[in-house]
Amino acid sequence: MDPLFPALTTARGEALRFGERSLTYAELAATAGALAQRLRDAGRVALWATPSLETAVGAVAALLAGVPAVPLNPKSGDSELTHILGDSAPSLVLTEPGAELPSALAGLARHDVDVRTGTDVGAREVDSVPLPAEPDPEAPALIVYTSGTTGPPKGVVLPRRAITSTLDALADAWQWTGDDVLVHGLPLFHVHGLIIGVLGPLRRGGSVRHLGRFSTEGVTRELGSGATMLFGVPTMHHRIAEALPGDPELAKALAGARLLVSGSAALPVHDHERITDATGRHVIERYGMTETLMNTSVRADGEPRAGTVGVPLPGVGLRLVDEAGAELTEAGPDSVGEIQVRGPNLFTEYLNRPDATADAFAAGGWFRTGDMAVRDADGYVRIVGRKATDLIKSGGYKIGAGEIENALLAHPGVREAAVTGEPDPDLGERVVAWIVPADPEAPPSAEELANHVASSLAPHKRPRAVRYLEALPRNDMGKIMKRALTEK
Ligand code: ATP
Ligand code: MG
Repeated sequence: MDPLFPALTTARGEALRFGERSLTYAELAATAGALAQRLRDAGRVALWATPSLETAVGAVAALLAGVPAVPLNPKSGDSELTHILGDSAPSLVLTEPGAELPSALAGLARHDVDVRTGTDVGAREVDSVPLPAEPDPEAPALIVYTSGTTGPPKGVVLPRRAITSTLDALADAWQWTGDDVLVHGLPLFHVHGLIIGVLGPLRRGGSVRHLGRFSTEGVTRELGSGATMLFGVPTMHHRIAEALPGDPELAKALAGARLLVSGSAALPVHDHERITDATGRHVIERYGMTETLMNTSVRADGEPRAGTVGVPLPGVGLRLVDEAGAELTEAGPDSVGEIQVRGPNLFTEYLNRPDATADAFAAGGWFRTGDMAVRDADGYVRIVGRKATDLIKSGGYKIGAGEIENALLAHPGVREAAVTGEPDPDLGERVVAWIVPADPEAPPSAEELANHVASSLAPHKRPRAVRYLEALPRNDMGKIMKRALTEK
């Protein structure tokens, strides 16, 4: 059976580094192997997912033991934690020693992960690590809660097979090997940070350097000292784009990287272009979900195109369907449809929610993503937005929020932008722009922004109302919480 970590006991050198602390592969195998032995009868375990060595080791140990792990966001409030713990019913929580746990976890047994580094782990000890037998590929490996962008988070049951297949498809698309060293600045309680960012390098036998907290200084330091890849969410690339004009060292570090990747939300074209202009490098965009892991990516050996999420990954079936569920056969900017996917990268079910699981699938095993997109003639996917919040039906047109947001962000007076639809007696819905101005003292007028959009897109796409904010409501992944805007 295909082991999840084929390089665990054979790779040499550093596996994980979090700040000042690091683990070699030998140390990781010994530490996680020992913990796995103790977890074998644990049932299901929660993971207090701080950005730490302990979280990474705890995840690897649970996966080795074949015990499903439920990563918890340490920033979650008590009510969300209570919901997740009630839903997933873990028998214990794996934590960093000394971590202060909120009262929602008071009833749960606690197991501090004991990470042993340095000389106390000898090579002989590694050779004798009794790793448990490889678990069944269809058995639940991780239960990851969705980001909660469109509603309460849902527990997504991910089998081992989904994890290995998505990581191998990405290795193909990104030419990702054990020589790669990843700069990581993402939280570890979602798919992006945990599966792609930690399990990905470990599956290849490469290494991860976690910044703790993302900073452009950290990116410069790590890419300047041997790291080869940077994975980020759009808010990080935005910070990079903002910093580049005054930071030649950062530009040099990025120019020398092998791969810059963005995902979890749409990367504004304006930020992508600013990074390319300053570094000569493109940001590779990939599109995925908790339920499906990764679906598409621009390939490392493919043609980069700003504003697209690339082509389906190897093994992933992808189609666009109209409202009646019929497959769209035409490519082109007017053929907007919902993305449906199928393949070995998919989850098995929403935990305790058979109805939601059944609703999520169309006949033939196609998963309804709820994301709307168009396709180029050569298969590049361009995401228009989410069906629930980003498709505005106005005056007989279907307008995607994403392209209007991109147009607004290209205006020099706009720092952040979000577009929503709002009921309108004449148009059905009207386009509303939520703007964080670059200079709060001199925000661009509603008329100016409407004209700017009308001239770069089409007149019917111009915002009919503009609302000014100090910041957009975002979740931990930097995703804009449109629900919070429209409820305002
Ligand atoms: P919830 O399902 O709880 O509302 P969520 O959908 O944000 O939250 P995730 O599973 O973390 O939870 O995110 C998946 C979604 O993120 C996708 O459905 C898509 O809308 C968005 N997404 C991911 N990558 C990209 C990308 N490259 N471009 C645009 N959108 C993306
Ligand atoms: Mg979702």
